[in-house]
Amino acid sequence: EVRTRFAPSPTGYMHIGNLRTALYEYLIAKSQGGKFILRIEDTDQGRLVEGSLDVIYKTMKMTGLQHDEGPDVGGEYGPYVQSERMGLYMDYAKELVEKGEAYYCFCTKERLESLKEANAEGVSFAKYDRHCLHLSPEEVQAKLAAGEPFVIRQKMPESGTTSFHDMVYGDITVDNAELDDQILMKADGFPTYNFANVVDDHLMHITHVVRGSEYLSSTPKYNLLYKAFGWEPPIYVHLPAVMRDAHHKLSKRHGDKSFEDLVNEGYVVEAIVNYIALLGWSPSDNVEIFTLKELEQKFDMAGLSKSPSIFDIKKLTWMNSEYLKAMDFDKYFELARPKLEEALAGTDLDLKKIAALLQKRLETLNDIPRLVDFFKELPDYSTELYTHKKMKTNDEIALSSLQAALPVLENLSDWNETAIHDSLMALVGELGIKNGQLLWPVRTALSGEQTSPGGAMELADILGKEEALRRIRKGIE
Ligand code: GLU
Repeated sequence: EVRTRFAPSPTGYMHIGNLRTALYEYLIAKSQGGKFILRIEDTDQGRLVEGSLDVIYKTMKMTGLQHDEGPDVGGEYGPYVQSERMGLYMDYAKELVEKGEAYYCFCTKERLESLKEANAEGVSFAKYDRHCLHLSPEEVQAKLAAGEPFVIRQKMPESGTTSFHDMVYGDITVDNAELDDQILMKADGFPTYNFANVVDDHLMHITHVVRGSEYLSSTPKYNLLYKAFGWEPPIYVHLPAVMRDAHHKLSKRHGDKSFEDLVNEGYVVEAIVNYIALLGWSPSDNVEIFTLKELEQKFDMAGLSKSPSIFDIKKLTWMNSEYLKAMDFDKYFELARPKLEEALAGTDLDLKKIAALLQKRLETLNDIPRLVDFFKELPDYSTELYTHKKMKTNDEIALSSLQAALPVLENLSDWNETAIHDSLMALVGELGIKNGQLLWPVRTALSGEQTSPGGAMELADILGKEEALRRIRKGIE
């Protein structure tokens, strides 16, 4: 059975690159009938941010990347929060010591520091000199018995190479001589990140490890750990960075948006997920718009690419408007409503009608306040707006049209779009003018704007008789 895991560290927000990793992990599992697991990697307690877990759970829920196992839903291989697993790593480290694949190291900070200095000349990185590998079993026992602080290090092969296959990057080989005897257990008794990650992936029966390419260089060490235990390594799927431009990775610290930021800026969750799916993967049929369910069918690891993709907010914005346009009205209204309520607070305007006018015009939901402001209050506008070449109107024509429209509308007893339409069209016929010569001035007087969602009749209907007439009178002044 295919089992993938999303292993976020609780940082307090959902980076776009992390969400993409989660999405691909979910898809690799679901496209093969497998399981998707959520594991919280919170061993770096210093970096914990309050409320982080909620952000993670909320994102999974909103995006529909529903995990089959995890801290909040349980599962056979828990606990799924690393800080709750602290008791189990030491035994695994000791197992490696017994197998001769790891060893106790009692070197002091001072000694390690001096090594670094010695290494600095000629050696590119501070490799541990294996001083403690050569302690006799009796020496080790004596030090342990004396309660000397220790770490446990992995014994890397001295020569030869380590190779592994990555689904995206292909075959990768490193010289073992390059590898440091990395620490598995720290002096405080806690595992290092790398060690806990491997032990957990094994214990949780993870078949595909999907993560950012920044982990690629650590993978030989991970792989050697599996080998040391005699465990079968997982399939590796490293993903190229998501870039802001050709040279910079997306980074929250440098102001790039997180998932929550995008939602707050009026992007629709489904559009974000759809767009993110394309950051490093291409469908074989070139159809770019799809639901998560469709994606589960379409997804195929062969479509993953190793060239970094650029996060293009323009493309996301385009996609977002497509989603809004195609959305079922009730669902769209649910999303638009809070923005409308806020923008039009204190009015009793029909929000549904206004929402309907907007649906095909929005790029993001945050366009709403700007587009509906005039409903609440007629802006100051220049009479230049009455001049419109294509509509064949100017200030003068507008004035006489508004003067003619006013009594007609005043006399209308039924105030609805059809009645308004019929009476204005009858007036156009009577005056022998073009539609635009009446409708453009009325629309302008009602909105005070060069462009508005909705035309003369729709705006008049929504504004209500009293307010519509007030605005037309204002246009005549
Ligand atoms: N906790 C790691 C991160 O947030 C995940 C690394 C992995 O997937 O192996 O980057």
